[in-house]
Amino acid sequence: LSQLNPALTWSQYTKALERETRKTVELTTKLRHALEAEQLELYYQPQVDLESGRIISAESLLRWNHPEMGFIPPDQFIPLAEQSQLIGPIGDWVLRRACRDLKAWKDAGLGTCPVSINVSLIQFQLGSIPDTVRRALTDFNVAPEELTLEITESVFEQHGRALKQDLEALSAMGIRLSLDDFGTGYSSLGHLKDYQFNEIKIDKSFVSQLDEGDYAQAIVKATIFIAAALGADVVAEGIEASEHITTLRQLGCTKGQGYYFSRPVPEPIWHQLLINKKVLP
Ligand code: C2E
Ligand code: MG
Ligand code: MG
Ligand code: MG
Repeated sequence: LSQLNPALTWSQYTKALERETRKTVELTTKLRHALEAEQLELYYQPQVDLESGRIISAESLLRWNHPEMGFIPPDQFIPLAEQSQLIGPIGDWVLRRACRDLKAWKDAGLGTCPVSINVSLIQFQLGSIPDTVRRALTDFNVAPEELTLEITESVFEQHGRALKQDLEALSAMGIRLSLDDFGTGYSSLGHLKDYQFNEIKIDKSFVSQLDEGDYAQAIVKATIFIAAALGADVVAEGIEASEHITTLRQLGCTKGQGYYFSRPVPEPIWHQLLINKKVLP
């Protein structure tokens, strides 16, 4: 809707709106079939120790490869999945696929490589995430420390007692919690101390502005300071240049991910990355 031209007449506007709605409905119908048609795939992007270049963990990122439409970006289909509640089964699939892959790497003698999965607020409203997670850990023999749940800052917009209880239950199980896209959403710092986040992710919009002067650097510094006070780690996302690494290290950030190291890659390529001594680039 936001993309509609404001200069449209009313009837043009209504038609455009109808078209958009029809497109949304069609895409949602296609998404409904995506799971069983095996069109969803979990990609992995390395999270790297900025000192040594070693892979320390991976973020899993969902891909939808439609036979005719090609790759549809998550920013397009995740909102549809949330609106249609398909995020329930899709989120379960992501969780179980990540655990299955983790187990496969260990079985192949590659050692453990902790995985972060992205979880949206709606998933907490649809079912019991702690129960689903517990079952997946048991089924694939995964230790809780091997799994991190990334939750975007926007959870605070509708945070409720149920969400807080779920996050506490996950923490008590030993699951790591990560606050994604930090600094971009609506959140009061006061909320942070009510949750036990193990990690804060600096949004890529700040990393990309690091070379433009003091503003982004101040945000990064402040984030590191806040994280230290909470006893949380900091991960910078969207690292695209070696200058970003230099600046981040100067500011005290020790972990990061971004195209500079690797784009998110399909599991077979990720597997190969793990075999190749875990050092990038
Ligand atoms: P996010 O969790 O903040 O993920 C980071 C996004 O930045 C990913 O986009 C990643 O591919 C991209 N990225 C990584 N390095 C760089 C870089 O150096 N430069 C730039 N410009 N971008 C970089 P992607 O894969 O398109 O995912 C977008 C968002 O979709 C994610 O943001 C996350 O919120 C959501 N998402 C992805 N997978 C899942 C999932 O399995 N479940 C849920 N609920 N959401 C997901
Ligand atoms: Mg994320
Ligand atoms: Mg992010
Ligand atoms: Mg995001």
